[in-house]
Amino acid sequence: MPKYIATPNRTKEILAKYKFAFKKSLGQNFLVDANVLENIIGHAGIDKHSGTIEVGPGIGALTEQLAIHSDKVVAFEIDQRLLPILKDTLGEYSNITIVHQDILEADVHSVISKNFTPGQPIHIVANLPYYITTPILMKLLREDLPVESLTIMIQKEVAERMAAAPNSKSYGSLSIAVQYYTHADVVMNVPKSVFMPQPNVDSSILRLVKREHPPVQVEDEDYFFSIVQASFAQRRKTLRNNLTRHFEDIYDKGTVSEILEEINIDGTRRGESLNMEEFAQLANAFYQREQ
Ligand code: SAM
Repeated sequence: MPKYIATPNRTKEILAKYKFAFKKSLGQNFLVDANVLENIIGHAGIDKHSGTIEVGPGIGALTEQLAIHSDKVVAFEIDQRLLPILKDTLGEYSNITIVHQDILEADVHSVISKNFTPGQPIHIVANLPYYITTPILMKLLREDLPVESLTIMIQKEVAERMAAAPNSKSYGSLSIAVQYYTHADVVMNVPKSVFMPQPNVDSSILRLVKREHPPVQVEDEDYFFSIVQASFAQRRKTLRNNLTRHFEDIYDKGTVSEILEEINIDGTRRGESLNMEEFAQLANAFYQREQ
């Protein structure tokens, strides 16, 4: 029976051997629960033909399981202190490449073409550092990487916002941004107790399957996202009021109402009641008016 990294005892042993002190500023909460790891792997949609990309391997708990269950793992780690530890803990696996880089700075496209074979199905699997979950995820989605899915452990509330449907408390611009690129599902909630050290918040495993095409046609993606954000700027305000504020330098309230009427969207509704299709209509109407 191999002695996997993801147990409290083995993790303590490794941390003591290297006198490793956690950096809270890097979101270092390491997984020490084999069952949760098994669930992440089970949901990740990977097999021995898959390429996998991990963000933040830590001391290698998830990396080890990815090495066992996929063809090849590439893991980006920002903390130099973890490099000698990973060399030791993952030494027996020959299918792992550690890239010492901030994922936000990384050229992931070129890392993919260097490390995986053309056409190989690639999946991102990670227990993300909480302090930059959204920037990391939006980078990975907006760069149009050739990956099939992302299975990520993140803060529970953030996972709920990413997967939320219209008319729910969690629905907002983040839901639209994530669901524009993926089908999003929360597949499991995870208590704080599976991490060392324990964070202050609970977590969830979020499964994101990349869409082949966006679900709506927009004239300009940046413009679309800016209209979505403006519509949620003040959640209690009506759509018309949020948009009037957003366009205050170019349109008066009457013009905003007129554009809303043209596309048959009631300006007294709140942003949280609009689905993605309606946001696309809204953005395209304002975009065309500006051309
Ligand atoms: N995968 C490990 C596990 O599950 O036990 C560690 C996960 S821990 C929540 C997050 C990891 O991300 C840490 O190893 C941290 O050093 C690393 N990290 C933080 N910011 C990063 C960044 N910008 N780029 C790459 N890695 C980062």
